Amino acid sequence: MEEVKDILTGLDRYEEFLKKLEKEIQELDDCRIAIIYTDIKYFKYINDTYGYQRGDMLLKEFTRQVTQGNASMLCAARVFSDNIVLASKVSNSISNEEVREKVHRHNLEMEKRFRENYSAARLKFCTGISFISKEDRRLDPATAVSNANLARKIAKEMKEDCCVLFDSRMVEGIKKEIEITSSLTRAIADGELKVYYQPKMKTDSVRIDGAEALARWQKPDGRFIYPDEFIPLIEQSGQIVELDYFVYREVFKFIAGRMKENKPIVPISLNVSRAHLDKMEILSYIRSLFEEYRIQPNMIEFELTENIYIENTEKALQLIEGLHEMGTKVSMDDFGSGYSSLNLLSRLPIDIIKLDKVFLQDEELDNHLKENDKIIISCIVDMAKKLRITSLCEGVETPEQSDYLSEIGCELQQGYYFSRPIPEDDFEKFMDRKFSEENSLITA
Ligand code: C2E
Ligand code: CA
Ligand code: CA
Repeated sequence: MEEVKDILTGLDRYEEFLKKLEKEIQELDDCRIAIIYTDIKYFKYINDTYGYQRGDMLLKEFTRQVTQGNASMLCAARVFSDNIVLASKVSNSISNEEVREKVHRHNLEMEKRFRENYSAARLKFCTGISFISKEDRRLDPATAVSNANLARKIAKEMKEDCCVLFDSRMVEGIKKEIEITSSLTRAIADGELKVYYQPKMKTDSVRIDGAEALARWQKPDGRFIYPDEFIPLIEQSGQIVELDYFVYREVFKFIAGRMKENKPIVPISLNVSRAHLDKMEILSYIRSLFEEYRIQPNMIEFELTENIYIENTEKALQLIEGLHEMGTKVSMDDFGSGYSSLNLLSRLPIDIIKLDKVFLQDEELDNHLKENDKIIISCIVDMAKKLRITSLCEGVETPEQSDYLSEIGCELQQGYYFSRPIPEDDFEKFMDRKFSEENSLITA
């Protein structure tokens, strides 16, 4: 006979659990069934640090704590690894939120105990809960579990809460995610992805110094999907490499085209996703673009976010060195948005520091920057100057902000005050206008 129990935890195997759950659903009376799906965040850390034996011990203990003495439990299984699901009978006099609160409290108690016993300060239990009522009798048990699992995934991403109730809108969110990740390649081929350009200005607010290339996805019905929505998704699926390469090629083509027509051009900066650090194929790809389009290395710059440097300083260093060997500049993007390490500024050979827009978004009611922010910005600019790093402030939206940055000697500025990210044609017009203004300044 096939084994129906999981050897390590003694719980049912998942297939057996589904069979039992199906039966329970058929027999549902005036109660509901709660599907409680839990996993352990940072469990891998325990395995990696203390070994599998200790990981197994923790799992057994975890199973014991969620199942033993639980009178309302109908069945439980280990789905895989540290993912445990259980089905519990819930009286209709208890609300969904009350169930959530109870599980939440239980998770916190377990967390405290486990953190002490296993010296794992970060360990966290994350739970998703879905419900099956009498009316849902036709619901497939696997769907009920996958709903709870979906809520669990959301709980895992949350900082504070560790227990989330399933909501049907979550399925819509997932559908959207799948739609985005599954249609990226087609969308690139069909021309739905475009490169927009946002100018970077010199301190005098008149001269253009460069521009940043930003991806835009416009659906055939004219609706835009913005990077904040699709980049995190395709970063997870690894497809960001495909998007970045597409953007890089478009930009190289654009610069080569301007040069062929003998039109002036400014350096364009390209965003580098953290995903490139895994394989480091990016360097050979960029090298091949330089060979193919025959443009000067100083026409291209790269932006790596502060997080990349913090997460993987060694690899980031290798990447900067490779880019420097080709003759391109490298900037530290979004500085100040995370755990900014001033130390990194002196350790990494970066050329430009891009102060994140958070510094400017914190304003007094009268549109003036808060004194504290002013002090921080001017200290960073001063320090960068001493380290011979160019400073750029992003998110400049008002003349007051721009004036202040000029006053403290921040060399470059970027933001809606000068221009939003604009399509290629508009950017060409913008550049041509700025160059002619500059010329008239020189000849005046
Ligand atoms: P980022 O690199 O920090 O880009 C700047 C973002 O700030 C852009 O958002 C831009 O539209 C916005 N922004 C510019 N000026 C202002 C301003 O004055 N005020 C405010 N409130 N916002 C301003 P966008 O284009 O939505 O891009 C978001 C992020 O997506 C980018 O942040 C970048 O990290 C990522 N991204 C965009 N395109 C690409 C790409 O081709 N490859 C990679 N790897 N990442 C990209
Ligand atoms: Ca950027
Ligand atoms: Ca940025």
